[in-house]
Amino acid sequence: METKSLLNVAKEYGSPVYVYDSQKIISQYKRLTSAFDKVKRLKVNYAVKALSNLSILKLMKSLGAGLDTVSVQEVKLGLAAGFQAEQIIFTPNGVSLEEIEEVAALGAQINIDNLSILEQFGTKHPNIPVCVRINPHVMAGGNTNISVGHIDSKFGISIHQIPHILRIVENTGMKVNGIHMHTGSDILDIDVFLYASEILFETAKSFKDLEFIDFGSGFKVPYKEGDIETNIEELGEKLTERFNDFCEEYGKDLTLAFEPGKFLVSEAGNFLAKVNVVKQTTSTVFAQVDSGFNHLIRPMLYGSRHEIINISNPKGRERFYSVVGYICETDTFANNRRINEISEGDILAFKNSGAYCFTMSSNYNSRYRPAEVLIHEGKSHLIHKRETFDDILKNQVEVDIFKKPAKMGK
Ligand SMILES: *Cc1c(COP(=O)(O)O)cnc(C)c1O
Repeated sequence: METKSLLNVAKEYGSPVYVYDSQKIISQYKRLTSAFDKVKRLKVNYAVKALSNLSILKLMKSLGAGLDTVSVQEVKLGLAAGFQAEQIIFTPNGVSLEEIEEVAALGAQINIDNLSILEQFGTKHPNIPVCVRINPHVMAGGNTNISVGHIDSKFGISIHQIPHILRIVENTGMKVNGIHMHTGSDILDIDVFLYASEILFETAKSFKDLEFIDFGSGFKVPYKEGDIETNIEELGEKLTERFNDFCEEYGKDLTLAFEPGKFLVSEAGNFLAKVNVVKQTTSTVFAQVDSGFNHLIRPMLYGSRHEIINISNPKGRERFYSVVGYICETDTFANNRRINEISEGDILAFKNSGAYCFTMSSNYNSRYRPAEVLIHEGKSHLIHKRETFDDILKNQVEVDIFKKPAKMGK
């Protein structure tokens, strides 16, 4: 997005504000589907938890995507955005049988990731086909930083428990129509991912009623220049060949499914915050913005590195800054970062703020969550209002029990 249009958004809608560029989402979607255009049946299910605004979901729908959801609320959001239930897959972890039944009643595809629920669900609803989430336990060594469902992971049913899955399927008469893996880690080494896929293919042979194989996500996007990113084109070429061979062997054209979140929306987002104070100390210069980890928690939670650009002074000389927030607690966005000279009142843009940023925001310090703006075909649209004081109060229940001074004990 151009500096000028970002500045205009800050001017028009105030700060802090999230800004999303529909064009980037569209081009990422096209890039992924083009890489797999030799697969007969491809399904891209957008992971709602990355960015769950209704307008973003509607954009995904217009592109032909389905949805990947992890809560009944996300399923309902998808329905509210106009998706058919059949276009939604529910891949939760550790939720109750009741929640799974609620989603099944809505008509979404269920994905089960533990034997206990599989057995209970299969016993009660043998006619509702389910997908099973497999943990292939693939660990990469050396410098590659992948752990494809490692042994301690809480996700998925261990590959070593396939005999138990098969017993449950036989005992209950339930139908397994899909198998799934999602590693939760970045795919940096395609060969490791392909190795995990081989395990999934091997597993697939044990199930006779499959309609799809879901390879989850883990597509890594660059956060700064020179960053390693998943080579989607190479992955597409290699996995397509293996997948098509497998379908032949299996005797049926299965659907190849993915469920990317970050890949589709991360780079489309900018978070804009205004510099309240420039504070010199004995060791550094702090730029303090009108935000904090209440609005963008990834740097504090994961140590994520978001590029920061001073869009009010993009050509100014560079200095070193620590960019921090206004929360009464350490909330560092960036340490010792080279940024174009910052003055109070400048607007800073935090890159890669489309995924897991707004959706993880909170009201900590009783602050309002930011507004969200979507730029589409050159025009900006407010897609989420900034909160107001009413939002802070709205679910608090005032009880009339402190008329007399509270007793303080002896
Ligand atoms: C979070 C999640 C995704 C999306 O992961 P990204 O890294 O954002 O692509 C996909 N599938 C499941 C089951 C998830 O929980």
